[in-house]
Amino acid sequence: MSAPAARGKKRMGEGPQKRIGVFGGSFDPPHKAHVALAEAAVEQLELAALYIVPTGQAWHKARVLSAPEHRLAMTQLAFADLPGVVVDDRELRREGPSFTIDTLEALQADHPGAQIYLIIGADQFAALENWHRWEDILDIAIICIANRVHPERANPGFDPASRARHAVLTLHLPLMAVSATNIRRQIGSGDADPEEIAQLVSEPVARYIERHRLYLSR
Ligand code: ATP
Repeated sequence: MSAPAARGKKRMGEGPQKRIGVFGGSFDPPHKAHVALAEAAVEQLELAALYIVPTGQAWHKARVLSAPEHRLAMTQLAFADLPGVVVDDRELRREGPSFTIDTLEALQADHPGAQIYLIIGADQFAALENWHRWEDILDIAIICIANRVHPERANPGFDPASRARHAVLTLHLPLMAVSATNIRRQIGSGDADPEEIAQLVSEPVARYIERHRLYLSR
């Protein structure tokens, strides 16, 4: 994909607009599709920085997530080798529900004048109307979607793209069937082959899961 907006020539005292990416998730655990997606976003959107933001207790996920310290540690391991990526724990430190709009507004304040890109999977985008202050999200950020195998459509009549102030972009990325739910199920079933798990998450994340005996009782 070409860059979404041409970068202007630098004039005195003026540079091209800085681009900041935000990629949130429960990362329970972070898997290889997350990493591929982050890598594609940094490259294709020419981001100055991509903030990876593990959610606190996500208001839209009924399941109780693994402890914040485990998800943060695994996220740091998963993304450690990606240049331009910053793992940001602000939602884990925040009291109360984890709302994306709060994070976007905080990052906007930290980077005045920057254009924010919100990177999300197609499943999350389809359910955007359930997000807290979703219209404000569409105002602040350019949405950049990663296609997903069988994205669920909560409301087939709802097309958030038609409400967006900016064009909605799509990341160029092969479809990847991996999901954290399946990884947890595989480990919880008790007969997961460690080598198979290491195909779905990075080696250091696989070792972390094993060492801390995560997901065994699900
Ligand atoms: P779970 O199965 O627990 O719901 P998940 O695999 O969807 O987890 P999340 O941490 O919830 O992982 O995802 C963070 C973001 O990454 C979401 O926007 C999600 O849509 C996106 N995402 C996750 N897996 C994929 C994938 N295989 N392809 C494209 N996008 C993905």
